[in-house]
Amino acid sequence: MQRLSTTRLSAVLLLCLVVVAGLSWLAHYQTRAKAFHDLHDRGQNTLSLAESSLRGQLARFERLPKLLADQRVIRSLMLSPSNSDLILAANMYLRDTAELLGASDVYVMYRDGVTLAASNFDQPHSFVGGNFAFRPYFFDAMRHGEGRFYALGTTSNKRGYYFGAPIDVAGQRRGVMVIKIDVDEIEQAWASDDLRILVTDPENIIFLSNRPDWLFHAFGELTPERLARTEETRRYANAPIGEIEYRARTDRHGFRLLTGPGSETDASEYLVVAREMPQADWEVQVLLPTRAARVQAAATVAIGLSLSGIVALLGLIVWQRRRQLAIRLAIEQAAKDDLERRVALRTSELRDVNMALEDEVTERRATEEQLRKTQSELVQAGKLAALGQMSAALSHEFNQPLGAARNYAENAQLLLDRGRNVEARSNIDRIVGMIDRMTRISRHLRNFARKPNQQLRPVALAEAVAAAQELLGWRLTKCGVTLTVDLGDGALCVTGGAVRLQQVLVNLLSNAIDAVEDWPDKRLHLRARLCGDMVQITLRDHGAGVAEGVQARIFDPFFSTKEVGKGLGLGLSISYNIVHDFGGRLSMRNHPEGGAEFTIELRAAAQASIEAAQ
Ligand code: ADP
Repeated sequence: MQRLSTTRLSAVLLLCLVVVAGLSWLAHYQTRAKAFHDLHDRGQNTLSLAESSLRGQLARFERLPKLLADQRVIRSLMLSPSNSDLILAANMYLRDTAELLGASDVYVMYRDGVTLAASNFDQPHSFVGGNFAFRPYFFDAMRHGEGRFYALGTTSNKRGYYFGAPIDVAGQRRGVMVIKIDVDEIEQAWASDDLRILVTDPENIIFLSNRPDWLFHAFGELTPERLARTEETRRYANAPIGEIEYRARTDRHGFRLLTGPGSETDASEYLVVAREMPQADWEVQVLLPTRAARVQAAATVAIGLSLSGIVALLGLIVWQRRRQLAIRLAIEQAAKDDLERRVALRTSELRDVNMALEDEVTERRATEEQLRKTQSELVQAGKLAALGQMSAALSHEFNQPLGAARNYAENAQLLLDRGRNVEARSNIDRIVGMIDRMTRISRHLRNFARKPNQQLRPVALAEAVAAAQELLGWRLTKCGVTLTVDLGDGALCVTGGAVRLQQVLVNLLSNAIDAVEDWPDKRLHLRARLCGDMVQITLRDHGAGVAEGVQARIFDPFFSTKEVGKGLGLGLSISYNIVHDFGGRLSMRNHPEGGAEFTIELRAAAQASIEAAQ
């Protein structure tokens, strides 16, 4: 497509170039023809002037020979050609006449061609005695009654126009009267820098010229025949005849042109305007340089071309602008369409996404609903499970002592019936012991019904530890357990409740004693340190630690690994809840060097606030 349009564009451009070239050529052809026409007109005017001046000059003299031939002194001389008196008289007469007429020379030739008398008889190059029978003006006059000739004087070596008229005396043609006029003046009147005004003879040799360099030069090749014809009349005496290097041709419009080498003073091409003058047997030519006309034609075409070019350029610019505008509009429209299409696409995509989202939201809502339902079901189930677990544990914990108590009671009844009071009493003591255990369980259970919102206050750790030690002192002694207490500077205070903190410490210490009482290493370490805004209390024993599998469950209620009757499985879960209520954490790990390590983290409280609280 692109290539096709490029080829088409090239073809159009080529066509335009051909058309422009053709039109330019045509325009140049026409304008040059017009310029040549004008030049030709100018040449015609010049030619007319030159011709009329020549014609006038010749007309002045053409009848005079005839008149002079009729003069008595001339006629007398013809009758007695050797009479020296008559010759002298004629000479004098002719000299006066020449002066009067402004002619170059006036002379009389006898019928044999010899000059009998002349106006220049007393000059160095006098014609007297000269025979000019070879001159056409002589023999034409002798034969036809009139002779005319232009030539370079053989004696005077001056160019002139000769008028000859026969001298008829007593019915006989006895001689010829000749007037020679000077042509230099005519030439001088034609002075011009650019034009050449010429007069050529029938052999196309230049005889008169407003510029002397072409005088006695011929147009065209000088063949021997041409030279022989010229030699016959000795028109140019002994002057050498040259050739002009210019060649003549006629152009398409019929203009005669001369083309040659040109020089500083000469044009390389001349337009020739010529006119025959049959009465003088010559041709008057005006040569006009064509350069200015050609330049004018070329300039006109160039201006025309430039103007056309400017117009074409303006047209091209306008066209280009409009095209660019159209392209821009098309691009904008395309972009707009594309945008609209994309917006539509995006909108539909968004609609789809929206719908998908709505579906998803609906689905999620349904799922959430389902989840909530499941969750509440799970909670319910969890509650029930916990309740069931607790009920099972409680029934287990209570049924056993109840069953045992019932047995002991029935036994006691029988023993009392039988009067065995001492044994009955022992049974009753056991019943009391079991009731005590159940009382203990129910007391612990009460702690579950704690009041989490109970007010927290600063508690001096050292006091709580001392109280716990006091409570468990008898057990430590009994089991031979050593407890080392390290509370740092001893002034640590925590946020909580004094009694409940004591309870936590008692629980943990009881467990630790349980863990080491049958163990060779019976050391316990209680340590407390302030870490940032928390107080960290660790209790480490050197017992067996907690098995990996049960670590996650030790804080569950009723979880116990101790033999039945010894452990309730409530100590850690109660402690966990108490510490949690204090805003702290209770955790456990097995110490890398053996034994369990319980850590209580509690918020630190300032000593001053204790005093304030008390
Ligand atoms: P009880 O002491 O009545 O069993 P607890 O809730 O106090 O109930 O303890 C739960 C269980 O945690 C214990 O049965 C015991 O297995 C484990 N335990 C607690 N303290 C220690 C300890 N210092 N060393 C080893 N095991 C421990």
